[in-house]
Amino acid sequence: MSALDQQIARFAPVDISAPIDGLPANEADALRHIIAAARVMDDLFLNQVWSGNAVLQKRLEADTAATGKSELHNFLINKGPWSRLDHNAVFVRPEFNVPAKPEQANFYPADATRDEVDKWVGTLKGPAHEAATGFFTVVKRGADGKLTTVPYSTEYQKPLAEAAAHLREAAKLTTQPKLKKFLELRAAAFESNDYFASDMAWMELDASIEPTIGPYETYEDEWFGYKAAFEAFVTLKDDAETRKLGMFSSELQGLENALPLDAKYRNKKLGALAPIRVVNVVFSAGDGNRGVQTAAFNLPNDDRVIKEKGSKRVMLKNVQDAKFQKVLVPIGGVALGAADRARVSFDAFFTHILMHELMHGLGPHQVTPGGRAVRLALKDTYSAIEEAKADISGLWALQQLADKGVVSKQIADTMYTTFLASAFRSIRFGITEAHGKGIALQLNYLIDAGAFIVNSDGTFAVVDAKIRQAVADLTRDLMMLQATGDYAGAQALLKKMVVIRPEVQRILDKLKDVPVDIEPNFVTAKQLSGK
Ligand code: ZN
Repeated sequence: MSALDQQIARFAPVDISAPIDGLPANEADALRHIIAAARVMDDLFLNQVWSGNAVLQKRLEADTAATGKSELHNFLINKGPWSRLDHNAVFVRPEFNVPAKPEQANFYPADATRDEVDKWVGTLKGPAHEAATGFFTVVKRGADGKLTTVPYSTEYQKPLAEAAAHLREAAKLTTQPKLKKFLELRAAAFESNDYFASDMAWMELDASIEPTIGPYETYEDEWFGYKAAFEAFVTLKDDAETRKLGMFSSELQGLENALPLDAKYRNKKLGALAPIRVVNVVFSAGDGNRGVQTAAFNLPNDDRVIKEKGSKRVMLKNVQDAKFQKVLVPIGGVALGAADRARVSFDAFFTHILMHELMHGLGPHQVTPGGRAVRLALKDTYSAIEEAKADISGLWALQQLADKGVVSKQIADTMYTTFLASAFRSIRFGITEAHGKGIALQLNYLIDAGAFIVNSDGTFAVVDAKIRQAVADLTRDLMMLQATGDYAGAQALLKKMVVIRPEVQRILDKLKDVPVDIEPNFVTAKQLSGK
């Protein structure tokens, strides 16, 4: 296999489907139009990444040689000629004269420097400053050579008009009022460049079809993180998981009251929950379909909306399932002993992710005594500790609910082994950011507690007699660091535990042929739109 094909093989192809049988004909027609609008986001995003993308894509499409086909394939996965898993290394042949990936993307002039733009922004005041640093403008060089801002509604007028027309058609077809409202307002936003009202409508959205479409995340702007990239997630609400969430929500105060902590650190009255939606993806596009696939997101990013309505967590269940089957199960095959491999289940995996999200809301958020925010007290250690807390207390909570009969025995029997396999999947991405640090901390703690052991053949196993207590102990230890705002303690724990031990590294070394992620094939969208 060529080096290029090896790059591509890290993304396991998988069919992504969602159940559309329950949709009435008018809603299915609306869905078709929303998918058509989402397709526009792909071209818009390609253009935002690099001004040369459209021309290069045409050249690759015209190239019938095997190399050209692989290059096009990798181009579509990465949304450009740079491999996102390999520090953006160029993967097309030198004859295409592709530059290094521009850090400013196509949001700022190709001939500008970061310093020049930064200085210019510093001279601006009021609305001009807001526009330059806002989500929805590009920075251009005028005929006089001076920098200026152009709103997305002008810069991308034609494609946005096309997307807006599809959203309006969909709005006419659906009989779900909240969906209709969002679609109409989002179409208007594409033309007015004012996304506020449509973001507010998105927060209120509750319908069988849950579209997210527009400019959202700012990662592609590697200079300043100001500019939003176009993306779409066209999804259907998952009713069974939504019911499960409702059931869990009613158990949360009981869980808080039972936390393995002194009563004075527990919260007698939990605040309102941030909304969570569980959906299945029909089609995703643009920034929402590049490189490693998004499995969950929190939106919007606009502070004005967050202040009034908070933000919404959307979890993409069928994408999680695909990653589970294509990545996690094979990792379990390498990392776990034969007896434990059978105890890895998607139901346990997904239910734990739901519980992780809910557990962010439980446990100490203020330091006792004094009431200082835990985030401020724990400073740079906060995120890793908080992510580890949500994971481990999620397992603790599921065990409590299993004991009560709220969670099935099947989930309780598989969740620890599933968590162990999933720890190897996370650590593979590195232990430099909060989630990876949190996972390393938990894995090593549970090994030290004798709850995870290494078999003679190097595989790992769960020790049933010890795991339950070890999970409760770590839940208590992390929550006590938060409750007392113990920054030095948090630092010491991370220093000791955020390492890759030799027995873990030996497993990671054996994972080279296991895919890193998935490459979705949206079969339901194809079936609907005949493409
Ligand atoms: Zn989290």
